Amino acid sequence: MQNKLFLIAAGLIFGGIILLFMSIIPVRAIINQLPMENVRTRWKTLLSLIFLFVSGYILYALLHSPDSINSIADLVVPGIFLGGAIFVFMVCSLSLETATDLRQIYILEQEVITDPLMGIYNRRYLDRRLNEEVQRARRYELPFAIFLLDIDFFKKVNDTYGHQIGDMVLKKLGTVIVDSVRELDIVIRYGGEEILVILPNTRVANAVELAQRVRQKVEETMVVEPNMGKDQPAIYVTVSIGVAGYRFSGGWDTASRVVERADQALYQAKKQGRNRVVSSNDYDNLN
Ligand code: GH3
Ligand code: MG
Ligand code: MG
Repeated sequence: MQNKLFLIAAGLIFGGIILLFMSIIPVRAIINQLPMENVRTRWKTLLSLIFLFVSGYILYALLHSPDSINSIADLVVPGIFLGGAIFVFMVCSLSLETATDLRQIYILEQEVITDPLMGIYNRRYLDRRLNEEVQRARRYELPFAIFLLDIDFFKKVNDTYGHQIGDMVLKKLGTVIVDSVRELDIVIRYGGEEILVILPNTRVANAVELAQRVRQKVEETMVVEPNMGKDQPAIYVTVSIGVAGYRFSGGWDTASRVVERADQALYQAKKQGRNRVVSSNDYDNLN
């Protein structure tokens, strides 16, 4: 009987040790997935605790000879050891599953709001983000501005070099714009070759400066390299930009009103000869 009890106790402890070791696998996978250093450090602490538990289980086993296991009551502690190990294993495995699911959801959400060609946000994201910005502006009385950018004579690029080269221009333009604006600015593909940029916490005058920087950067960039075999020269494009700021003038602006004003400013930029920045403040002096 005593021998049998001892074997059961040993089995419970050994099973616990195995489960604790198995818990290391999901914990390591979680650590590798996590982008935040501070959370990673906390999981590493948990990993050290698992090793500490394993040492404790082994020490307990070494300190108990077959003589010390005499009754069912002596199995309580080894039983709790196994239960604890099952709990640790389940929590670690579930955490990994949850982290993986959340990551998947994040990737899918990003895909839904990203334009696959230009690698920037798409129109789906515009309403949500613009409304958030409007709420923030109203609540904290913070300024924000937007600019709307349109490639000049883009039809000609498509007509001369083909749609595929046109797509290459758009792709490159997405990168150039994202690299030219600040990290907190939001770059959205508004239409075919129209891009809208939301500039949080920015006054119109600064938005115009930033738009000028973007316009100049685009003008200087070779958007498609030459291809001698196909008799295609290096391609450069220019852009026209309309800027508008969110404002209070007898009542709060709506999100669509700001876009409308940026669109009118863009129209003016085209009318004035293209490759230029026009602010809605330049021709209506409400602000
Ligand atoms: P403007 O200076 O007045 O803007 O002249 P534009 O020729 O650029 O005129 P518009 O802005 O109306 O041109 C839009 C063109 O953009 C029409 C369409 O062929 C092209 N376009 C829209 N989406 C795409 C796309 O995804 N790929 C390619 N290659 N072309 C596109
Ligand atoms: Mg257009
Ligand atoms: Mg155009």
